[in-house]
Amino acid sequence: MPHTLPELPYAYNALEPHYDEQTVRIHHDMHHKAYVDGLNNAEAKLQEAREKGDFSLIKHWEREIAFHGSGHILHTIFWDNMKPGGGGAAAGKIADRINQDFTNFETFKKQFSAAAVAVEGSGWTALCWNPTFSKLEILQIEKHQNLTQWGVIPVLVVDVWEHAYYLKYQNKRAGFVEAWWNLVNWDDVNKRFSVAVK
Ligand code: MN
Repeated sequence: MPHTLPELPYAYNALEPHYDEQTVRIHHDMHHKAYVDGLNNAEAKLQEAREKGDFSLIKHWEREIAFHGSGHILHTIFWDNMKPGGGGAAAGKIADRINQDFTNFETFKKQFSAAAVAVEGSGWTALCWNPTFSKLEILQIEKHQNLTQWGVIPVLVVDVWEHAYYLKYQNKRAGFVEAWWNLVNWDDVNKRFSVAVK
């Protein structure tokens, strides 16, 4: 199923005067759309590679799927995170949690703004729930294509930093990866997967 550009949840001019109609129009209809198209293309090319058993361009298409996938995910959240007449202080459960993890709303807002202003180059700042640590974190996202799709939950990982295999496998990372398949605990992967899809 190809991805589609979600409609804005409000009119193009609804965020005026804080966010001007022309920028919203270009940002949504052109920039966000390009991520959706790029993601669909990368997914199709990877499907083709699987069918042919040809992974010679794997680095390129993994980069593309990360760049466009993250772009699509983050823009979708960005549009939904705004509304005409929004703003003010946080309310409800998120407010309680912000107070717990950032002292109070004002302090949270200061840290979030400082992080957003200080992102080097292009990027984002995100308030995230970290399910492993059970806490809210403010994270800078420099170049969102850094080979992840924001919002994904890892269920199976392999460490291929040299420290993970060098003593036995030296520069033969492929040998380690091949051997590692003999160790995968699919019960654990299944457990993580069922929690993730809930
Ligand atoms: Mn953008």
